[in-house]
Amino acid sequence: MSDAEDAADDAGTAPSVAIVGAGFTGLSTLHALAERGVDAVTYEATDEVGGVVKSREIGGKLLEVGPQRLRMTDAIRAMVTDLDIADEVLTADDDLPLFVYADGDLREVPRSLSAFRRTDLLSTRGKLRLLAEPLTDPIDPAESAQDAFVRKFGTEAYTNLIAPLFGGTYGSDPAEMPAKHALKPMMGLESRKGSLLRAALSRLVFSGEETPPAASFESGLQRLPKALADEYAGRLNRETPVTGIERAGSGADSVWLVHTEDDTQRVDHVVLTTPADTTADIVEGVDAESAAALREFNYNPLVLVHLESRARAEGFGYQVRRTEPMRTLGVTWNSSLFDRDGVYTAFLGGMHDPDAIERDDETLGGTAAEEFKRVMGVDAEVLHVERMPRAFPAWDDSWAASERVDLPEGITLATNYTGRMGLPSRVREARRLAGELSNSVGE
Ligand SMILES: Cc1cc2nc3c(=O)[nH]c(=O)nc-3n(C[C@H](O)[C@H](O)[C@H](O)COP(=O)(O)OP(=O)(O)OC[C@H]3O[C@@H](n4cnc5c(N)ncnc54)[C@H](O)[C@@H]3O)c2cc1C
Repeated sequence: MSDAEDAADDAGTAPSVAIVGAGFTGLSTLHALAERGVDAVTYEATDEVGGVVKSREIGGKLLEVGPQRLRMTDAIRAMVTDLDIADEVLTADDDLPLFVYADGDLREVPRSLSAFRRTDLLSTRGKLRLLAEPLTDPIDPAESAQDAFVRKFGTEAYTNLIAPLFGGTYGSDPAEMPAKHALKPMMGLESRKGSLLRAALSRLVFSGEETPPAASFESGLQRLPKALADEYAGRLNRETPVTGIERAGSGADSVWLVHTEDDTQRVDHVVLTTPADTTADIVEGVDAESAAALREFNYNPLVLVHLESRARAEGFGYQVRRTEPMRTLGVTWNSSLFDRDGVYTAFLGGMHDPDAIERDDETLGGTAAEEFKRVMGVDAEVLHVERMPRAFPAWDDSWAASERVDLPEGITLATNYTGRMGLPSRVREARRLAGELSNSVGE
């Protein structure tokens, strides 16, 4: 009998699934599996849950040091209701405007046809060029996201609208993002609807489908993962990093052994939700080639500077057009969104300014406050500086390596670098995966 088989025998009564990571994806998967009656266990390396979702009270203010909001989709609302925390939800007024800072002014991003007619972000010529999108050729997977957007919507719409919003979401430069990887969901939409504009219009005008509202919780976004962790406390191992996995047995009888420093657990299926470099370390022993490919993925560093200001601003915040002489990528108006008592969050760094992360707090805070004043006309005090060396998957050329990630059956990646990044997408993937696993594990 091999060492692995010995360990498998020692591993005791097995849950069917091991989930590695208690971030939003891992805990949503645990919940979705529990709903389907599948026994699962989750391992979390740190003593905290939520992964990059972190809400902190600093200087008497509630600060989000990761994502600032989520969209309250039906699936997230159902989870919130199940956990009995619906009365703690804060919902932003969806009529609040979002702005792009361009040519020295805040200009509203159009989110309706009448706003599109009104907006001064685009000239009449720029608007007509954008409306010609259905006449352009479909996105070519071989082109960059920038080339695809410019070709389809024109240079003006790209520079003033798309690059600040799309690039801002990833802290990335669309010129460095191959369409093949970065625009995959958009290409699917385009082929289903015939054009991107038609897809947007049919959503806006014909479907009557509303965008779920932006939301948070009274004590911040981390409330949701904390509530999930409380609900499933018996199935969650904190401060227990998974160090590796191993296959035991062969053929239909094979199982996976999940190793932690002090223990080994036998399961039918392993779900990895960890960042790419950690995932590589975990799968190294079972698939060195996939591990090497995962190590190639680039991430964009990001700096969040939390500011306090008496500025009276109503809206979601603004993204800065990349041609402006500013380092700030964008600012979330937490104060207006969720009544967060004068709090604003500035984002710096990203692919355009990777060295930002190396600057000291004083320099970063000074830049954020000075540029805030330039845009808002009001002073701001620095509350906190947070550095995230590996914040966003970059979706750049390094994603070519994804074609070499082909893990053995029984190991699934449920991650924001193999799927979409937003919290609603993380929950959607968790639910889809739980559905699949509930049909397959223990068969
Ligand atoms: C700055 C920022 C702003 C964002 N803004 C928004 C937003 O406004 N709205 C939105 O919808 N989305 C936003 N996102 C995206 C979204 O927050 C993330 O995609 C999502 O939270 C990722 O969750 P996850 O569980 O997949 O991964 P993670 O949050 O990375 O969780 C992975 C977990 O695995 C754990 N782990 C690591 N190694 C091990 C190990 N060896 N063993 C066990 N556990 C391990 C980690 O400690 C962590 O808890 C933002 C992301 C960032 C970084």
